[in-house]
Amino acid sequence: MRIPDFQLDGNKSTCCGCEACVQKCPHSAISMIRDDEGFYYPIIDNEKCVDCGLCSQICQYQHPVSKSHETQVAYGGYIMDEKVLNESTSGGAFTAIVDEWCDENYVIFGAVANGIKVKHSFITDKSQLAAFRRSKYSQSAIGDSYNEALSFLKSGKKVLFSGTPCQIAALKSFLKDRYFENLLTVEVVCEGVPSPLFIEKLENKLGGNITTLDYRYKDNDRWDFQVMYLENTNSSKPLKRDRWFNPFWSIWLNHLMSRPSCYNCLYTTNARVADITLGDLWGVHRYCPDLYNDDKGASLIVANTEHGRLLVESIMGKTFEGRELDFSTALKYQGPMRKSIPINPDRSAFMKDLLSMDYDSICKKWAKRPSLKLIISKYLWGTNRQVVRRWKMKQKLIRLK
Ligand SMILES: Cc1cc2nc3c(=O)[nH]c(=O)nc-3n(C[C@H](O)[C@H](O)[C@H](O)COP(=O)(O)OP(=O)(O)OC[C@H]3O[C@@H](n4cnc5c(N)ncnc54)[C@H](O)[C@@H]3O)c2cc1C
Repeated sequence: MRIPDFQLDGNKSTCCGCEACVQKCPHSAISMIRDDEGFYYPIIDNEKCVDCGLCSQICQYQHPVSKSHETQVAYGGYIMDEKVLNESTSGGAFTAIVDEWCDENYVIFGAVANGIKVKHSFITDKSQLAAFRRSKYSQSAIGDSYNEALSFLKSGKKVLFSGTPCQIAALKSFLKDRYFENLLTVEVVCEGVPSPLFIEKLENKLGGNITTLDYRYKDNDRWDFQVMYLENTNSSKPLKRDRWFNPFWSIWLNHLMSRPSCYNCLYTTNARVADITLGDLWGVHRYCPDLYNDDKGASLIVANTEHGRLLVESIMGKTFEGRELDFSTALKYQGPMRKSIPINPDRSAFMKDLLSMDYDSICKKWAKRPSLKLIISKYLWGTNRQVVRRWKMKQKLIRLK
């Protein structure tokens, strides 16, 4: 038995593109080929394949990877180092965890960007961690990372592997329960990955190469505005767009261009594959406003194993300002930890347009403009800020009494 042929009859909703089969194949018979939508799928070279079945044994859709909730504890907060906080997507939990765990003889794996391309890579010196910071909302090419992680573990090194849940599952499948004592896995809460075609169309329109693309630029402490910041070789003026005026967010979060398997994700449950799960602390102004941090960004951390819990406990109050949260309340604000994203019935029509139309026409037809109510609430009233100011005022009054 081997993995399906995705060029012929493979059901694309059962391949997340983790690339474990490619790395596992001892005959180099599998390669990743990009489809029309811009997503990569494994294709088998029949000349080289000897039908050994290793690819199917490692496939997480054919042999599900076990999930853990042996000690699930949720925490919220932010890193105390303001510079790192500003460079991080949410509250900088990733850096705080790396700092604590990586003492000596370690290797760290994560996603790095080169223009609009994203790939997995490793570093052996945590002073280079900035390259991994910031969420790149595009599927990273895993390269030879699972093999590299395995050989580092075999040689006695500590390995911290970060990525999406399906990448962590692929690594665990690869390691087959071996070498876990020196391994720490950190996954991001994942809403799915969008087709790279959209950003490629934007690059075409700009007429130059995109050299910097920050999907979550904090722009004067406006974490929840999810500002996109972009520099390209054709203009000296960077482009900046708030979330509600950015067609990328509107189209992607309307589930029009996610990878087919993301609508059928195996990891959108509260049981998790990694030791630690990281996300944005959405809902902070509602259920833990003391961690709001003036909109500079806050992280949700979920420790899924005892190993993860002890580590997270050890950063609290040391490099990270935070506290334990009620897990079920935290889950309420984390859709991707409860259910898969719904498939938009217009997805096929959108994808057809994405292939044939130019960037402006696509945006005009498919991106939603924010309602007046939303503009007033975000820009004039500033919901979050007001809520927190009122809360702080209330606390002051209580203390004065
Ligand atoms: C594709 C994607 C979808 C996400 N969806 C959600 C969501 O729906 N809800 C939510 O709360 N949070 C989501 N996140 C997670 C969130 O954006 C932050 O990454 C997380 O809160 C960690 O923030 P930080 O401040 O601790 O760390 P940062 O220092 O900003 O951490 C970056 C971490 O993200 C990893 N990373 C960045 N880009 C990628 C990538 N393309 N593939 C794999 N790993 C990557 C890095 O390796 C590193 O571990 C998503 C992240 C990604 C990459």
